[in-house]
Amino acid sequence: MKNTVFQTPVCQLKELNNLFIELTAKNCNQHCRHCYIDFPLNKNIKDFIPIDDIKAALSDTGEENIECIYLTGAEPMTHPDFNTVLRTCLKRSNVCIFTNGTFINEKKVRFLKRVQDESRFEIIFKLSIDHYDEVKNDDIRGRGSYRQAVHAVKSLVKYDFNPIICITNYYNEDKNTLINEFKRIFKKAGFDAQDNNFTINVYYDKTKNSEYDCEYKWNSLDCEYGRILTAKGVYCCPFLANDHRGRCGSDFKDFARHNALETSYCSSCMQNKEQLFGINFKLFQ
Ligand code: SF4
Repeated sequence: MKNTVFQTPVCQLKELNNLFIELTAKNCNQHCRHCYIDFPLNKNIKDFIPIDDIKAALSDTGEENIECIYLTGAEPMTHPDFNTVLRTCLKRSNVCIFTNGTFINEKKVRFLKRVQDESRFEIIFKLSIDHYDEVKNDDIRGRGSYRQAVHAVKSLVKYDFNPIICITNYYNEDKNTLINEFKRIFKKAGFDAQDNNFTINVYYDKTKNSEYDCEYKWNSLDCEYGRILTAKGVYCCPFLANDHRGRCGSDFKDFARHNALETSYCSSCMQNKEQLFGINFKLFQ
């Protein structure tokens, strides 16, 4: 008789290079159509990770080879102690800020440049904008979001930051067309973007019951090189932050180094081939 027992693949953490910190699970000033986070109807203003949890995580991971700390959310720049968190993390490694760009203007960038200059590490921006066409972009991310993001890019470039543009391919369009059109738009804004300035991710539609398919072959997954700290504990990746299926422990003193690839999110990751959240620094060498 044919053996029909289904075995979920298990992923082993190879090295903790990427430390994601979810500064807030729910607070964001945009509610994008494709966002994988479930937003509450009422805003919970206390939904911010305490800075002491972050300091404890940095201390508990002292022996790990952390190459980059990623500040994520919802929108991480809504955290009331964002500047302190940033300075604290910059003492340890490069820091990447995942942002929709709405809190970034020239004054803020001037300040962030000063903060970076005080550190031996770098601040990297992963800025979300989903379409080169303003109407199509704002249809996904909300009215005005396109102009705010382009303005943020302009301000960052003015102070010599080199932002990475994160595109969720909501309309499932040709990747080269997306990149070339964005290059054209950014050139007008003074940003001579290269191919490595773009990451294009597949759109995960959480409203549909996506098929789980463990037959995909991936190159690199976020859960192989990182873990995320949230106010509730440690999880295997940003997709599964605060989801019991991705739980790895309550802190970094003792956390799981393996996880089952059992969710439909995992199928999206595998289809994407490369890490969805972590930066491939080799592309910038
Ligand atoms: S969602 Fe992606 S990164 Fe997270 S556990 Fe699944 S495969 Fe790994």
